[in-house]
This record gives sequence, C-alpha cells and structure tokens, in this order.
Amino acid sequence: VQENGGNDCEFYSWVLDVHTSRRQRLENDLHYAIERGELSVHYQPQVSLKTGKIMGCEALARWSHPTYNMISPDTFIPIAEEIGLIDKIGEWVLVQACKDLKKWQAFGFMSLKMAVNISVFQLNKADFRQKSINTLLANNILPKYIEFELTESCLVQDLVMAKQKIEALNSLDIRVSIDDFGTGYSSLKSLQKLPFNTLKIDRSFIQNVETNPSNSAITSNLIKIARSLGLKVVAEGVETVGELNFLKQHQCDGIQGFIFSYPLPASEMTNLLREGKCL
Ligand code: C2E
Ligand code: CA
Ligand code: CA
Ligand code: CA
Repeated sequence: VQENGGNDCEFYSWVLDVHTSRRQRLENDLHYAIERGELSVHYQPQVSLKTGKIMGCEALARWSHPTYNMISPDTFIPIAEEIGLIDKIGEWVLVQACKDLKKWQAFGFMSLKMAVNISVFQLNKADFRQKSINTLLANNILPKYIEFELTESCLVQDLVMAKQKIEALNSLDIRVSIDDFGTGYSSLKSLQKLPFNTLKIDRSFIQNVETNPSNSAITSNLIKIARSLGLKVVAEGVETVGELNFLKQHQCDGIQGFIFSYPLPASEMTNLLREGKCL
C-alpha cells in the first residue's frame, strides 16, 4: 500500500513469529507445569449481602511461568482445553481446593462453600462425575460444600445432555452454578431448562450498575428472575460502593469483587477468615 510496505510486512511477520513462538512455548511448557510446581490456586471470597460475612470462595488457577511470569487463566485454560490438558489441570485444581477447604474447616470455618470452575471438556468426559466424587471422598469433603461453576456458552449446544450431567451432580449433592450469566447466547433457555442452584451475573452488567440505565434494568430483573426460579444470585466483579449499594437494595444474595478482596493465596485467605473480615 505504501512505499515501505516491505518493511511493514517484515515487522508484522516478526510480531507474528514472536507471538507464535510464545504460544508454542506455552503449549509445550503447560505439559510440565504441574510437575514443576508452577501452578497454584488463588481464592476470591464470596460475601453474603445479608450478613456481610464471607460465605465461601472461588478457586482460580494461576500459572507462574519461568520466562513469562504470571500467565492469565484466560490465556492458559483455553490452551489446556485445546491440547487435552484441561482434565488434568481441572482435577489438580479441585484437589487443591479440597485440601485448602479441609484446612479451613479444621480451623472452625465449617459453613464455607468452595466454588470451582469446570470446563465443558471436563463435564463431557464419561468419568468426570465419578472422578470428582472420588476426589471429594479422598479429601473427606462433603459434596454440599462444593459448587461447580459452568459457563453457559458451552452448555447450550446440547441442552438435553447438559441437563443429564447437571442432574447427575445434583443427585450427588454437588451444587452447580451458571457462570458469566448473560454473556453467552440462549441464556434464558439454559436457565429455564437446566437445574442450576446459583446464577452468577457477569461483571459487564455490574459495572456502573447504579448509574448505567441498561445495566440497572438487566441486573435488577436478573435478580428477580433468578429469585422466582429459586436460584441464589451472586454478582461478579463488584468494585465500587455504588455498585454494592445497588445490589444490596435489589436483594442480591452475594457478591464477589475487588471491593472486598482480590483473589488471594490460601495463606492470605486464612488470614482474612481469622480476622473475621466483613463487608
Ligand atoms: P471467571 O470464572 O469469570 O472468574 C472471575 C474473574 O474475574 C477472575 O479472573 C477474577 O480475578 C476476576 N475478578 C474478580 N473480581 C473482580 C473485580 O472486581 N474486577 C475485575 N476487573 N475482575 C475481577 P481470573 O482469575 O483471571 O480468571 C479468568 C477466568 O479464567 C475465569 O473467569 C475462568 O473462566 C477461568 N479460570 C480460572 N481458573 C480456572 C480453572 O481452574 N478451571 C477453568 N476451567 N477455568 C478457570
Ligand atoms: Ca467462575
Ligand atoms: Ca464469571
Ligand atoms: Ca469469565
């Protein structure tokens, strides 16, 4: 297009090479991340708006790469799904979450719930349910303390199948939530057809909810819909007092967000629990 087009092309192909080789490197290294002790789990408190107290937490995977430092799960979870490692990583996260929950129970925090993200690739494996229950048994965790978070975009492809999978978890007493609600498609259909316990309203609807008219309308009505369907509602990504007050006024059950805490290593989560931090 311009005279120095050749140089631009070279530049872009260089950028592409760097990108491709980084991606290639991440793919290779992810195979060894668990063995090399590079993965960890951080916990973000979920807080009840009725009591102001911590009611549970969400387990969030972290990868500390030797060259690239912290890799976001938004980057490495899709890679893990693509190269067939998500079962192994998902299982590892569940084990850590059970061990840390057990520790907190031993400290006397008996009513804490633990939310764990589950990829549809895990859910669709024939042995997922059995493996999960084995992990809970091995760690002496009652299923009622565990909540699996599923994103809807992956479920709508086969609602009948998804329904069977979720019912199978329900029958074990494992709770199931619908994550990032509203960002996928056929949202209301999945809500109507699938037996979830909790609805998590996506952060995009919570942002400036008290001043943004469409977010206010969507969020207040989502809370009503969830309530009338008998689901608990947790708002994600709450950052400001304005957002928090809106959610309190509209009787949202719980919140998760930077306003209360960032995701924390287990030891720091222990400190929060011991301090008895409240909203
Ligand atoms: P998610 O399940 O929607 O998790 C919530 C994300 O929002 C987390 O990002 C959390 O750090 C972030 N967050 C929480 N509060 C706030 C806030 O107030 N403001 C803002 N801006 N962000 C907030 P994170 O930890 O980077 O995780 C990203 C995504 O990676 C997760 O989104 C989840 O989809 C996926 N993920 C993380 N761990 C796992 C895992 O063990 N298994 C699977 N399958 N997916 C995982
Ligand atoms: Ca989640
Ligand atoms: Ca979410
Ligand atoms: Ca998300």
